Amino acid sequence: MANYLISGGTGYVPEDGLTAQQLLAIADGLTYNDFLLLLGFIDFTAEEVDLTSALTRKITLKTPLISSPMDTVTEADMAIAMALMGGIGFIHHNCTPEFQANAVRKVKKFEQGFIADPVVLSPSHTVGDVLEAKMRHGFSGIPITETGTMGSKLVGIMTSRDIDFLAEKDHATFLSEVMTSRTDLVVAPAGVTLKEANEILQRSKKGKLPIVNDSDELVAIIARTDLKKNRDYPLASKDAHKQLLCGAAVGTREDDKYRLDLLTQAGADVIVLDSSQGNSVYQIAMVHYIKQKYPQLQVIGGNVVTAAQAKNLIDAGVDGLRVGMGCGSICITQEVMACGRPQGTAVYKVAEYASRFGVPVIADGGIQTVGHVVKALALGASTVMMGSLLAATTEAPGEYFSDGVRLKKYRGMGSLDATEKSSSSQKRYFSEGDKVKVAQGVSGSIQDKGSIQKFVPYLIAGIQHGCQDIGARSLSVLRSVMYSGELV
Ligand code: GDP
Ligand code: GDP
Ligand code: 5GP
Repeated sequence: MANYLISGGTGYVPEDGLTAQQLLAIADGLTYNDFLLLLGFIDFTAEEVDLTSALTRKITLKTPLISSPMDTVTEADMAIAMALMGGIGFIHHNCTPEFQANAVRKVKKFEQGFIADPVVLSPSHTVGDVLEAKMRHGFSGIPITETGTMGSKLVGIMTSRDIDFLAEKDHATFLSEVMTSRTDLVVAPAGVTLKEANEILQRSKKGKLPIVNDSDELVAIIARTDLKKNRDYPLASKDAHKQLLCGAAVGTREDDKYRLDLLTQAGADVIVLDSSQGNSVYQIAMVHYIKQKYPQLQVIGGNVVTAAQAKNLIDAGVDGLRVGMGCGSICITQEVMACGRPQGTAVYKVAEYASRFGVPVIADGGIQTVGHVVKALALGASTVMMGSLLAATTEAPGEYFSDGVRLKKYRGMGSLDATEKSSSSQKRYFSEGDKVKVAQGVSGSIQDKGSIQKFVPYLIAGIQHGCQDIGARSLSVLRSVMYSGELV
């Protein structure tokens, strides 16, 4: 399998193995299977290995794993699970802008610190309204204010315990009759820190803590469930409001600007410009447009596989690069278009160039094993994007079907199958006026893999063990010894 060995880690002896630079100089075109990493000196445990790594200039993740924006991989459930475990998911755009924005909103609302815009009702709403809110949003802890809006006087709260034992005939009952009223509520004053508020919540043993100002008007609530989520997922990727980080993909057409507006309103933290060949006037114009309209939004450009492609996007102002062409498991670009580059070389060349400008690189596609993740990171990628490895898990979109075994669909976004569903993946892989469509991907199915709640921890442990064998305590050490020629 391996044609080349790369020497590893600390305590390296010159000429035993090749450095990355030597290896890439003698062999143009390495895939992940074309080399192995040699071993270093171990003086730490695998659990100590720090996997913190940059996704973009401004976003850092505790787990360097990303789910791909494909319609058989990432919708809200996948993005939530990935973010809880320290990675991030990018919601695909093979759907309406509204559907995509809604998925982003679901991720952003899943866990929070202060909930500044909770669902609120008034005393003259009915039990039926609470049940409807529960159906629509999934929670029933609803503060009640005089006018039924935020900023109005707090008069009570409804929780699941207030409605659990009500019968059908009670649906028309006014909330004023069943709510826990203001005099019985534990509240905290506006200005309280999240830590203090959490302590009050814990002491009170209640499920919700309303936060009120001097005039007793509601300004926010916090939920006990969120404390538990925070405890259960210490690696979770979160923004300043303790909401999970969420990415989304867009194209580079005029109508993608509308999509972009909806995604930013929904709270997307980072956008990936989804193109199989990112070095184009369209993408450069889109980067300029986004940077001017939403200066805070992080933008990832791509896909690229050469330093020259990367240069144009870095000059345009991208905050991260997605690297890979034709190496995906469902991908036939290299066969059909005659273009692409073996992924090991692509990652090394682009990462080496981009690192001079502080732009992190995502190794996208072709990750079939945890060993491939370690190799991608050792070649300079900061994070790794996966499609097939995460497909057919519980969190992947779509229902299981049976063909003797439980299967879920996995398909390339440039497959004819995917492009029939919506026009947006047509735009990634086909030109508008194309009379004959040349598919760049295929469609298939994968056996049930269970939940990524089990699978991602396995990947994390695998990467940590790989780094330990190499002798690297962290991903930044891994990268720096690679560039200094000590590792790899
Ligand atoms: P963190 O624990 O690493 O997030 O550290 P911070 O100092 O940023 O958190 C401040 C406080 O908020 C701590 O008491 C955390 O336990 C708490 N916290 C963190 N995430 C959440 C969350 O999602 N919801 C709530 N309610 N509290 C949180
Ligand atoms: P409930 O007891 O039925 O309200 O549900 P939980 O408190 O167990 O869970 C509510 C979850 O939904 C928490 O993680 C909240 O952060 C989240 N959430 C998002 N938006 C809202 C909101 O407007 N109101 C409430 N109550 N929770 C929200
Ligand atoms: P995998 O992890 O399955 O090996 O690769 C996933 C990656 O393949 C995606 O992140 C995306 O970059 C790429 N991809 C997805 N669909 C297609 C397709 O139809 N054609 C090509 N060429 N690449 C695809």
